[in-house]
Amino acid sequence: MAVLPIITAPDPRLKAISQPVDNVDAGIRRLAEDMLESMYAADGIGLAAVQIGVPKRVLVLDLARKDGRNEPRVFVNPRILWSSQEAALYEEGCLSVPDIWEEVQRPAQIRAEYLDEDGRLQTLEAEGLLATCLQHEMDHLDGILFVDHLSRLKRTMALRKLAKAQRLKQAG
Ligand SMILES: [Zn+2]
Repeated sequence: MAVLPIITAPDPRLKAISQPVDNVDAGIRRLAEDMLESMYAADGIGLAAVQIGVPKRVLVLDLARKDGRNEPRVFVNPRILWSSQEAALYEEGCLSVPDIWEEVQRPAQIRAEYLDEDGRLQTLEAEGLLATCLQHEMDHLDGILFVDHLSRLKRTMALRKLAKAQRLKQAG
């Protein structure tokens, strides 16, 4: 396993539309392991392959991390089948948009299907943090960042703050 650098905005590679995986093989399982390793190293709870520069429809989550237990989950070719009218508001952050936290409104419940790490088709009903994280990570597969859901003013302010933080980091 390898810890890989995570790409940050405004890198154009984050805008790529990720390609579906044809076959969940050893290469995809290795990719998912590298993604988990990279996510844990960066102290995140979700990561899409495109964030480490691999535009394939693979994402990983581990929402149990905050409780100190590891519960890694791998989603290949995830697809939303249904989402609720009811919306939920969560403060989101992103390893590709470091140090920015903003509230984003998304459907509160979703039903999704995906292939697991063994290539088996699974369906999942999700709500709460799991629903939000899955939607956030699935957005990455279509080149969308959580700041793209903000009003233009809030988005401009967030990206300005990010650019300033990156300048400081480079200077320091
Ligand atoms: Zn993200």
